[in-house]
Amino acid sequence: MPNKYKLGVAGNPIEHSLSPFIHSRFAKQEKINLSYMPYRVEPDNFNEFIVDFFSDPLARGLNITLPLKNLAAQIAGNISKEAKHLQAVNTITKIDGALSLDSTDGVGFMEDLRSKKIDIIGKNILILGAGAAVQSILYKLVTGNPNTISILNRSQDKAETLVEKYVEYTSLGSCLKEDIHYDLIINGTSAGLTGEFIAPEGINLSNSTCFYDLNYSLESTPFCSWAKEHSSQVFDGIGMLIYQAAQSFKLWFGEAPSTEYIFQDIQNLNK
Ligand code: NDP
Repeated sequence: MPNKYKLGVAGNPIEHSLSPFIHSRFAKQEKINLSYMPYRVEPDNFNEFIVDFFSDPLARGLNITLPLKNLAAQIAGNISKEAKHLQAVNTITKIDGALSLDSTDGVGFMEDLRSKKIDIIGKNILILGAGAAVQSILYKLVTGNPNTISILNRSQDKAETLVEKYVEYTSLGSCLKEDIHYDLIINGTSAGLTGEFIAPEGINLSNSTCFYDLNYSLESTPFCSWAKEHSSQVFDGIGMLIYQAAQSFKLWFGEAPSTEYIFQDIQNLNK
């Protein structure tokens, strides 16, 4: 039996993270002996935690979630171009004693779009929200040749800051364009997983519009429930979660795990 690799996810809150479940399934499938644990870590203790975690010779990697992703970008290590641009890291890998820092959220999101045959080239995209999750997918979206992207956020200044950051790549705006038909509407707000989704007024959409909620839940999210009134192409963020995890796993062990069964395994958690 080979040594048991040590992995985990650090953040706060962390209790409801599906990452331990997903990575344990990947490990079983790929026959890799590992322990993947959730760690509740406060920002003030983050650096100390990282040193302690990786001092174990069996430590191979760590996922980082809220509110630690920006702090993780400050760790000494080889940071990827994307993670550096985002100033956010969700995957740390220890290779030959050195740490590599990556962001796999954007790859996970794009992989999920591909798997659902959602094409963004030449399309008009509306994004609701301008927080960390939106930032992590925006880098990929703006470089994917869409026609336009509109970002709407409760705090207008945050949407404007994002537009300024990426305006060189594509046609970006921080208000709704009522004369444009939106092909893809992405919900990146954390407004809640219960209650009703209140859509901004004046969105030009049709039954050919695709809807994607970065949020996920074993039940339909409020955004997805609203979207289903307009279209049959409605998706939540479970696929993004799985594909970003698969990308982390690939960084740690060199090969992407099969994602064939994990969707059903997660659905079964609800039974
Ligand atoms: P942030 O806290 O960074 O951003 C939250 C965003 O939601 C902000 O734009 C905020 O607006 C907006 N918002 C919050 N409450 C409301 C409200 N009541 N009405 C309107 N807008 C609101 O969170 P993240 O960006 O990190 O996460 C957003 C969601 O994405 C989370 O629910 C998270 O679970 C999900 N996520 C999913 C992933 C996946 O793999 N599928 C990966 C990462 C995140 P304002 O700026 O005005 O505060």
